[in-house]
Amino acid sequence: GIGPYDPQNIFAKILRGEIPCNKVYEDDWVLAFHDIGPKAPSHILVIPKGAYVSFADFSAKASGEEIVGFNRALGAIARELGLEEDGYRVIMNVGPNSGQEVPHYHAHLLGGGPLGALIG
Ligand code: 5GP
Repeated sequence: GIGPYDPQNIFAKILRGEIPCNKVYEDDWVLAFHDIGPKAPSHILVIPKGAYVSFADFSAKASGEEIVGFNRALGAIARELGLEEDGYRVIMNVGPNSGQEVPHYHAHLLGGGPLGALIG
């Protein structure tokens, strides 16, 4: 695992407005912004406003409202950015095996061009 939630992680600072981001969407449940090191033509990070270290933590502890809010926003952001028609990929890294670097749950939304096969 990656331990308890650290309120000094970089995404917590972005949520508090202490560090800037290139915002694409915000509502009561999520903030979405461009990844600083894009791995696809469009690479967006979607993060919950609540303090969860990873998808594992979020899926176990978040309320139904938070989970629905997060997932609806994720789909809507992809649609509104025009990624849906040609398709996209969502990745959540969890813990050391995945290489997760930032210990605040985030979904990577990747699209805008062919992504290559990852599985299948
Ligand atoms: P992870 O490996 O934790 O799943 O992904 C962390 C992602 O956050 C990486 O793709 C990295 O480029 C991105 N990132 C790290 N620091 C910052 C930052 O300060 N601002 C933004 N916009 N992205 C960041």
